[in-house]
Amino acid sequence: MVSQPVADGQVGGAVRSGARGEFGGLIPVRPTTGTLVVCLRGHRLELYGQLKPFSHRYRLHATLCEVRRAHEACEPGARRLAEWAHLDATSQHAADAAPGDGLVLVAHPPPAGTMAGRIELRLDGTEVGRVTVTTCTPCQAATLDYVHVGAEYRRLGFGRTLVAAAVARAPSYRWAAPLPDGPVAQSFRARIAMHRTAQPCIHTRETTGHR
Ligand SMILES: [Zn+2]
Ligand SMILES: [Zn+2]
Repeated sequence: MVSQPVADGQVGGAVRSGARGEFGGLIPVRPTTGTLVVCLRGHRLELYGQLKPFSHRYRLHATLCEVRRAHEACEPGARRLAEWAHLDATSQHAADAAPGDGLVLVAHPPPAGTMAGRIELRLDGTEVGRVTVTTCTPCQAATLDYVHVGAEYRRLGFGRTLVAAAVARAPSYRWAAPLPDGPVAQSFRARIAMHRTAQPCIHTRETTGHR
């Protein structure tokens, strides 16, 4: 399969949800990492302070950079990057056991005897993005076949969160991702550090990109 456009599409009219957790526009999401040093704009968080709000919209913990918040208060048109939520890419639910509220990952592992699985990103029980992956256990190889995020949910980090969730299922595998057509999909793909072609695999005759 070919990757579909994943980036761009500014979410307009976003309203600050802020540290007090009001419901509002969607804030960016990033996969949880270790110690946070800088904000999404590269501000060093130890210099001017940070808050640790809880995103009730996503039901996830978040970080808010005081420097960026002050900047956005002065420039209402600025992209909203002051506050972002943290999603643990390894926290993946079975389809029938996923929470119905907030932002959650739902894994559909490959059925027995097959190689193609997928992970959904759901917001309040509705799929807002998905990644499909082909994995070969004997080869210890995986291909990121397809990443899609709904048009109104782009530029929030959902795509990169899905990629992190896919890799989290097989972090030691050799990962590859095809090069898609189209400027938007290429812009997304160009930020993913993966091989462009999978190594040869004798375990499948499928044409899903794992060749
Ligand atoms: Zn900042
Ligand atoms: Zn193989």
